[in-house]
Amino acid sequence: MENKRAKSAGFCMGVSLALRKLDEVIEIKKAEGDIYILGSIIHNPQVVEEYSGKGVITVESPDDIPAGSIVVIRAHGVTKDVRDTLIERGIHVIDATCPKVKDACYLIDMSTREGRTLLLFGEQAHPEVKCLLSYANGESIAFDSLQACREQALNKQRKYCLAAQTTQDRSVFDAISRELQQQGDLDLKILHTICDATKKRQGEAIELADEVDYFIVAGGYNSSNTRRLAEVIEAHGTRALHVETAAELPLPELRHYQQIGITAGASTPKKIVDDIQAALDSLKRSSH
Ligand code: SF4
Repeated sequence: MENKRAKSAGFCMGVSLALRKLDEVIEIKKAEGDIYILGSIIHNPQVVEEYSGKGVITVESPDDIPAGSIVVIRAHGVTKDVRDTLIERGIHVIDATCPKVKDACYLIDMSTREGRTLLLFGEQAHPEVKCLLSYANGESIAFDSLQACREQALNKQRKYCLAAQTTQDRSVFDAISRELQQQGDLDLKILHTICDATKKRQGEAIELADEVDYFIVAGGYNSSNTRRLAEVIEAHGTRALHVETAAELPLPELRHYQQIGITAGASTPKKIVDDIQAALDSLKRSSH
């Protein structure tokens, strides 16, 4: 049995930066008051637990943050309204929004100022999507599939811009772009907001999927980019199992596979991937 780990498995730039910023805040500001995070710092329960052990308080509503405290905005960003409310309430806001999410917000803001209606390909309930939608000036339409896009009644008298949640599947976004552009008389501007980190992870996983007969995808069950990574591998024809930690690996079953691929979502710590690799490697040794 041989295990192959994708080079890009684990933290992306935005997550690394956000955690680095949170570490700095803990180091420098801890004496000044409690440190809050609005929603999980990243979509990984093990990391959230680790920071909770360091005294960081995760809350779901801005109302739960007392005036005068410190809040770190996570990599997904927050809506404009939430940010304004926090500042108005005298809360010290430290922004750890990923620079790529900020770029997407900027593009949406600028394009919708031109009178364009935003068409956003993304999961409506996802915090990043809520953040992106809040930067649209005027009307916006969100949908999460090519089919759902087809069901939108677009008005040819209006101008549109099309953007995506940064972690969406580029091939689906391209298909959506093509279909909309084929409606020749639709005034459409395409905004390129999909992050290369996602594309790189998906591309490497697909490449590796040809070399292995099973795949382990590590990451939080609440991490959409991790779930999508597993879907992309399965769609390519290789079985994929999404786990959060090495403890969930079905080791007896995995013995039957000759070659196992390992990858991880952009919010999965290296330690979790290392533990998974070590568990699979020990299986390899014991099968010799
Ligand atoms: S996946 Fe991309 S956009 Fe999202 S946090 Fe990471 S670097 Fe930023």
